[in-house]
Amino acid sequence: MSPRKGGRRAAQVDLSGVPYESLVAEMIRRCGDDPDREGMRKTPERVKESMQFLTEGYRITPAEAIGGALFEEHHHNMVMVKDIELYSMCEHHLLPFFGKAHVAYIPNGKIMGLSKAARLVEVFSRRFQVQERLTEQIAQAIWDNIRPQGVGVVIEAYHLCMMMRGVQKQNSKTITSAMRGAFLDDPRTRDEFLRLTTSPHAPLS
Ligand SMILES: [Zn+2]
Repeated sequence: MSPRKGGRRAAQVDLSGVPYESLVAEMIRRCGDDPDREGMRKTPERVKESMQFLTEGYRITPAEAIGGALFEEHHHNMVMVKDIELYSMCEHHLLPFFGKAHVAYIPNGKIMGLSKAARLVEVFSRRFQVQERLTEQIAQAIWDNIRPQGVGVVIEAYHLCMMMRGVQKQNSKTITSAMRGAFLDDPRTRDEFLRLTTSPHAPLS
């Protein structure tokens, strides 16, 4: 029997009534360890809590994340929030990928509170993701909720599923971008955005 067939059959077993902690304990057993030994006794409970936190993005919408923090403002230059810390999990291996997001937009009568760009990044990164879709979803949420003249998002991330297993490429960084409106239509806007995202980061000291 191919592993694929086995996987499909397993997915059809109804486990919905099994407590989360029991599922985690069983996974630990199948990995070859003992979930009842001293150091791991509370692990299933901890994993449950930690996974709930890391996937809380499923339980919040972008509109809720932005809340009322939209302000009338006739500012027509690019607003950019750079180096937003990002932690997510790849949907293929459920292993973390992490890095930075750079979010920029050109307002069209409305601006959002600066902290809201980081909130939006959290809403979509606290789900099982692929980096490409994560980048698109953040751009689309700003496009839909603020209706700016344009929006651009760049994400640079390291994927543990590449670093710890498989090809074991320790230093390869994946860069993705998503743009809407003026960032697509106007080469000067796009150039300014890309120049700002790639300039070296100097931490405040
Ligand atoms: Zn992966």
